[in-house]
Amino acid sequence: MRHTSPFRLTTLCIALACVTGVAHADETRWFKGNTHTHSLWSDGNDFPEMIATFYKREGYHFLVLSDHNILSRGEKWMAVRDVEKRRRTLGHSTLKKYLAAFGDEWVELRGEEGAQQVRLRTLEEIRPKFDEPGKFLFIEGEEITNNFRGRPVHTNAMNLGELIKPEKGTSLRATMRSCLVAAKEQEKRLGKLILAHLNHPNFGWGITAEDIAHVVEEQFFEVYNGHPGVRHLGDAKHPGVEKMWDIANTIRLASLGAEPPYGIASDDSHQYHGAGSLLSQPGRGWIMVRAASLSANNIVEAMRKGDFYSSSGITLEKLERNQSKGTLSFKIKAEANEQYTTRIIGTRRGEHSNPEKVGEVLATFTGTSVSYSLKDNELYFRAAITSDKAHPLPSFTGQKKAAWIQPVWAQPEKQEKAGQSP
Ligand SMILES: [Zn+2]
Ligand SMILES: [Zn+2]
Repeated sequence: MRHTSPFRLTTLCIALACVTGVAHADETRWFKGNTHTHSLWSDGNDFPEMIATFYKREGYHFLVLSDHNILSRGEKWMAVRDVEKRRRTLGHSTLKKYLAAFGDEWVELRGEEGAQQVRLRTLEEIRPKFDEPGKFLFIEGEEITNNFRGRPVHTNAMNLGELIKPEKGTSLRATMRSCLVAAKEQEKRLGKLILAHLNHPNFGWGITAEDIAHVVEEQFFEVYNGHPGVRHLGDAKHPGVEKMWDIANTIRLASLGAEPPYGIASDDSHQYHGAGSLLSQPGRGWIMVRAASLSANNIVEAMRKGDFYSSSGITLEKLERNQSKGTLSFKIKAEANEQYTTRIIGTRRGEHSNPEKVGEVLATFTGTSVSYSLKDNELYFRAAITSDKAHPLPSFTGQKKAAWIQPVWAQPEKQEKAGQSP
């Protein structure tokens, strides 16, 4: 589908929405969303309603509550004492804040003083308080939390209709694949689009770039996860997550005849009280998705087409990425007193075996307008934008505001059989 300027369309759609309440189906808009969020339903430390209030207030259009191996369904009570223990910061009680925001008619408590329990409201119960056509949408999700011999394999699935139980495979790669197979099976059976993305590969040094490359069913992975414990920058022995993207893209295109995965930025937020770089707070990383309207199917469909970018603080006013023509152009929405540098990163043909040349900087732009076309000698390129301004709530030392644009690649040549578990 061809897109005209998203900036103009957004303005137009806002105007239309004022008149009609809905955007026309043949038009597109940008929707801001977070695909990775935890609540008290697993190991987060606040109630889903409080978390959704934050995201809606901050201008997000969609939110995936993705608790570990659980959906927000059924009857679940928690000891108030345990709720309060989750808070690692001093300050107001979690329950008191919840009561102040939603009132004692909404907050359900039982038991004696000192042994009180609170019921966690289900997604179905809280959805009507937040969902608004074109403005905000909960997309049901789960972090399928798996491992292979202690190596974490965490996969988020969004737009689920049923819980997916983690299944062990006979290898790490088979374990990665099992989550994707389960999501695909459910998609077919229930007739709804389900998107699965691999989370934080460097967490626990669980997954290598080679693993991502060889599990070719893996179409999405987290290029940025806002949890401070995910080793975004790698270390002396492990590449950082951005470099892993380049290694995986290069292996797929040069050796496996497969297409690169798309990169997602997410919060993986767990902690909602106080502030600090050691807390996994909300608002650090998100995706902007260009879709016809705010429905879960449309969001997933657009993401599968690569019609989205990832951000930790930079917004685009225009983005034209044409995979078939091999072209990319975009315009950054300038903030006051902020300078931008865009690195075009990729790998040239014939250089895929040279680690120094995998994911090299092919071009550098300064300013807000960038255009680049795939050269005959390039396997792929992607754009990484950084601001000279620090991220307001960094998850790692020295973090700047940034954005990541999806790769553009040459059609891969089939070279060896991909998709088998080693
Ligand atoms: Zn995880
Ligand atoms: Zn998580």
